[in-house]
Amino acid sequence: MNGKHAFNRVLAEIHDNLRHLADIGWSGFDCSPETLAKLGKWGKGTQPSVESLLDIREDLGDCQRCRLARERNRIVFGDGDPRAKLVFVGEGPGFDEDQQGKPFVGAAGQLLTRIIEAIKLTRSQVYICNVIKCRPPGNRNPEPDEIETCLPFLERQIEAIRPDFICALGTFAAQTLLKTTTPISRLRGRFYEYRGIKVLPTYHPAYLLRNPEKKRDVWEDMKMLMNEYRYEI
Ligand code: URA
Repeated sequence: MNGKHAFNRVLAEIHDNLRHLADIGWSGFDCSPETLAKLGKWGKGTQPSVESLLDIREDLGDCQRCRLARERNRIVFGDGDPRAKLVFVGEGPGFDEDQQGKPFVGAAGQLLTRIIEAIKLTRSQVYICNVIKCRPPGNRNPEPDEIETCLPFLERQIEAIRPDFICALGTFAAQTLLKTTTPISRLRGRFYEYRGIKVLPTYHPAYLLRNPEKKRDVWEDMKMLMNEYRYEI
């Protein structure tokens, strides 16, 4: 459950309980119609409104903000549950993602799907996106200015979803979110914090395809994630 949703649910419960107490004639609490009306307005207008993923996608539009727009086929915005407790952040679209407009649908994506299933979740229960939304030509690494241009959209996506956990897949996702240049090999294996959200960096699935011996490390990371995730339910 995200923060806004939880907040509104608590407000609704307080409101219902106060109304019930008023209905059965309790005194000692301020159950007057004025107070109940005031409470009914809490969370509407007093709370800063959080934009939706649809708003953010609309704002991204047919993005021409950086040079990657020239050679991309499709923008790869993100996919999954907009209320996910767990968000996976990758680097950027590859060939297959650029063709289909969906994140992690190629070979690395199939491995990511197996990783998600190994922690007893499905792709539709999590949200998957990338640091950059357009494929760099020839799958080269994203340039710092491309990341800088695209990052506000990732930040807004995370703010809209407000997950409990982010799994940062690989160097670019981990270093960008944690604002560090520490190598992924040193970052992985523990939780960090990003705007109150627990971040677990781990190796990128594409790296695992080239270095299968590192799967053991990722499995250790996923076990940590699974334990914390279950604890938070
Ligand atoms: N690699 C990524 O980082 N993201 C994708 O969507 C696909 C491959």
